[in-house]
Parts: sequence; C-alpha cells; structure tokens
Amino acid sequence: MVRKTKIVATVGPASDSEAGLNDLLATGLDAVRFNMSQQNHTYYDNILKRIRDWESQNEGVGPAILVDLAGPKIRTVDFADGWELTDGAAVLLGCAGAVAPTEGIPLTGEFKFRGVKEGARISADDGRILLDVIASISNELLEVRVKRGGFLKPRKGVNFINIDLDVPAITAKDVADFEFALEKNVDWVALSFVRHADDIEPLQRIMNQHQKYIPILAKIEKPEALDALDEIVQAFDGVMVARGDLGVEVPLEQLPAIQKRIIRTANMAGKTVVIATQLLSTMQENPYPTRAEVTDVANAVYDGTDALLLTGETAIGKFPVETVQQMDRIISEVEIDPKVDPRMAVVIPQHTESDAIAHASGNIANLLDIRVIVTMTHSGATARAVSKYRPFATIYSLTPFLPVARQLKLTWGVQPIVVQPYANTDEMLALATEKLTALQAVAAGDRFVLSAGIPIGQSGTTNMLKIQVVDPVT
Ligand code: PGA
Ligand code: MN
Repeated sequence: MVRKTKIVATVGPASDSEAGLNDLLATGLDAVRFNMSQQNHTYYDNILKRIRDWESQNEGVGPAILVDLAGPKIRTVDFADGWELTDGAAVLLGCAGAVAPTEGIPLTGEFKFRGVKEGARISADDGRILLDVIASISNELLEVRVKRGGFLKPRKGVNFINIDLDVPAITAKDVADFEFALEKNVDWVALSFVRHADDIEPLQRIMNQHQKYIPILAKIEKPEALDALDEIVQAFDGVMVARGDLGVEVPLEQLPAIQKRIIRTANMAGKTVVIATQLLSTMQENPYPTRAEVTDVANAVYDGTDALLLTGETAIGKFPVETVQQMDRIISEVEIDPKVDPRMAVVIPQHTESDAIAHASGNIANLLDIRVIVTMTHSGATARAVSKYRPFATIYSLTPFLPVARQLKLTWGVQPIVVQPYANTDEMLALATEKLTALQAVAAGDRFVLSAGIPIGQSGTTNMLKIQVVDPVT
C-alpha cells in the first residue's frame, strides 16, 4: 500500500542544515512549507535550490514547495524591552504611529479600527495574554484592561476577536513574497487570514500580470471565513485549517466540529484540504507523541483530509525526522483499516463527462479489487477528479509536465509520474504499462483502470476509460 494522505513539513532552523534537509527529504514527505513570516528570500531560495537538486538526484517527483504568505497578521512591534502587563491594569494599544512603546503597546500592520465595542477581547501570543477593550480613543488607538497578564514579548501575534478591522487582504510584503514565489516557480501558495472569497483577487491580478498560475490555498483562521466557507472553497484551489490562529479566534472547543465541517466542504467540492498546527507538537521536545496527538492525526485521516502539515515540529523541534516518520506510521495504519469510510458513497458526482469517468474509475477499481488506477493528465484535473471519490486503489497520474506532477504531490492518493509525450492511444497504454511495471505497481496478468482524454493534449476532455490487462513480457 502506498500512503494516500500527504505529509507537509515546515522547514526551519531545525531542518535546514545539509544533513538535516537531506534526512527530512529522505523520509518521503510530500511537500515542504516555506513560512514567509519567519525567514527571508535568500534563505528560502537556497532551500528551494537544494530541494530541486535533491529531486534531480533521486527517483521520481520531489516534494511540492508551498509558500505560505503571512497575510495581514498584526504583531507587537520590535521593542526589545517588551511589556510587563499586570492583571487589571489599563494600557494603551494601537497602530505603530499612535503610541510609543514606552507608553503603550504599538502594533505593526496596515490596519485601522472600525467597529470596536467595549468589552471586546484581544488575544496576544496565542492566548497567553488577554486584554479587554475599555474604550476606543480613535481609529488607531484603544484603551484596554489586562485580563490575563504576564510578559508580552516583541513580534508576537495579536488577534482581535469580534473586532471589525479595516485591513487589506494582502500586504506589501505579501506582494513581494508572492512575486518571489512566482519567479521561483513554486508549486502551491497559501494565504493567511482570508476573510472573503474575493481575497484571492489581488493574487489573481499579479498572476495575470506575470502570465503564470499557481494553485492557492485559503488559510481558514478567521470567523468571517467560516461564514463565507462555501464561496471561499469555490474561489480558491483549496483550504487549510490553520488551527493555530483559528483556535484563538473562535472558542477552542469549537475546533473539532469546525475542522470536520471544513474537510467535508472541501471534499464535496473536490478541492484540496490541509490540516495544520499542533498535530504532534509534543514531539518538538520528545521523540514520541502523546496518545491524544496520535488520535488527532488519525481522526483527520478518517475524516478525509488530503494532507497534514507539521509546523514547529520540523521547523524548530528536536526531532524533525522522527516526527515525519511517526506521522507516516499513524496515517498508514488508518489507511489499512477496513472500516475506513467509503468516500465513494459520500461525494456526489457532477453531471459532466470527466466526473462520470472519474467516479466510474473508482467504482470499477473498488468492485473488481483492482489496486491501480492510471490517469493520463495534462492539467492535473483528471487526477484530482478521481481522488475526489477516495478510491481504494493508488492513483498513478502520468503527465508530461513536471510542474503539474509536483502540484499533484499534495492531492490525496495521487502518485504523480513524469512521462515523455505520447501521440496516440496505443502509445499511451504501452507507456502506462511500462511505467507501472518498472515501479512494480503491476505485474504480468494484473489489471489496471486507465482514464484519459482523447484527443491527447486537449485539456478538459476526460472521456476515455479502459480496464487494461498487463501482458506477460514477450
Ligand atoms: P501560521 O499558520 O503558522 O502562519 O500562523 C498556521 C496556523 O495559524 O495554524
Ligand atoms: Mn496562522
């Protein structure tokens, strides 16, 4: 069995050394995340080159690279002294120009306050510090009371809960980071703090200018995004359940239901869904996880996520390689559980040729216990369509395009393979047989299900389905 649920790991100081990165890549992870809040372009350019070099020196398609844009994240300014906050004290908090760090807490970010009600909650440093609004002094300055005090460090994230902010969907830094991503031909981009479906528009405009396209994930970590979930899922290529900020922005106990709802919404629409943050977080310190973490990871797999994303565990933890290996073992164990929810019954096909073929491919493989589905794809769409129905078979996706193959690394159940261009149906079948035999995915006498679009090379034409028997080698 080939693992179907994909693993993404964030690269950072714990995994960026020569040996460290090679060991991480050798775990067989499917994608590497560049967190643009953490390191600069030179750093990530260097990592990117090493990942692509590694790909060229190893068999198969290397990991996808996911550039994660910081979005309009608000932080405390870079003030080395920080702020000692005593419970019950009244303090000023506002835009960087509106208050000095010695007189209150200035914040970075291009924002203004809009609708601030007395008593509204502000959380800093992932909920370690809580503040309640006493009064709004201007659209740049608030007076707040310390509800849960302590030492507030510089450059820590600040979340405004149920406070309406005037804030752009993407910042000047996001534009620069996105242009870097386009220039380097990365495979996926994620946008933080998405609130509406049209938050994708500034990124689409930049892609149009550069005549390039990268699939984009919306990070769901604001209550507004939950209100617009269906529209966001339609507008973006996928979503990420960004549990770090989401767990501050909504009551923590609501996270499990929200996570299930987001997975289901994305599954139904055939869009990519990724679960992120604190999946195996105690492995930052220990070479083994807790029971609760193992169960959390397993449940996300049972619920049908495409991928799981490690953050601090691989970026700054003590055991990056062990964490990925542990996650691989948990996923693999769930995927051989015969009780795994048969998705085929759940996702309703659209009345289109490609959905009909994709649905039938999965059905045929499940009914006849065929372990291999081959999709011949130019855009990746056929592969994603088959993946949507969560068939038991492994979906080998043969494409002449390396960028498409890399994008598909994030898609549940899909094993992308780059092939030479083929001219006709006979060549296509011979090529598929040859590739799968070389991979030992099939042997003489085995069957596989193949779907493709004829005429070859015309995208959006998935219209052919075949049950192919592998001939004995003559
Ligand atoms: P972040 O996103 O690490 O960029 O904040 C993940 C999350 O919020 O869970
Ligand atoms: Mn976040």
